[in-house]
Amino acid sequence: MELQIAGVTKESVVDGPGLRFVIFTQGCPHRCPGCHNPETHDPRGGKRVDVTSVLQMIEQTKLLRGITFSGGEPFMQPKPLYSIAREVKSNRLKLDVVTYTGYKFEELLTMARSSEDVQLLLTATDILIDGPFQRGERNLSLAFRGSNNQRLINVSRSLAEKEIVLWDEATIKRFYMQ
Ligand code: SF4
Repeated sequence: MELQIAGVTKESVVDGPGLRFVIFTQGCPHRCPGCHNPETHDPRGGKRVDVTSVLQMIEQTKLLRGITFSGGEPFMQPKPLYSIAREVKSNRLKLDVVTYTGYKFEELLTMARSSEDVQLLLTATDILIDGPFQRGERNLSLAFRGSNNQRLINVSRSLAEKEIVLWDEATIKRFYMQ
């Protein structure tokens, strides 16, 4: 199975808690004014890579806390991303998954009703950072996100409790950065 990516960063400490392998997906429909990654918008840009080769790179990177799907828009390619998420969350690797998206969580729930792949990627995500970057709401003091409207969502609790449950930054540090 293949994936269209803009690139990867093997060791990041700014795209979620702890040391993370980041996959920047290629293709984004949101066109947020002030986007920092405009080169990722064209779905025909970037390069095609095999999921297996991405998993090999992840396995070769030591001391990872988790992986992050960034963009571009990860939910344009939910099937290959889910297959990566499923492997890295296995007992063998035990990594967590952060997914950035320009969609709001509520929109993803609607999309998931007609797309099993969207539903699977959403369910495999531990922390969802949702919503488009809004230049007028830009805030440099936020952890892991760029504008005030973007939320750190605890996906498993939100799905179980049928209402949005947010991670607060102190909890994330306590829970994930020990
Ligand atoms: S969702 Fe992200 S990558 Fe897409 S336009 Fe907005 S800021 Fe850029």
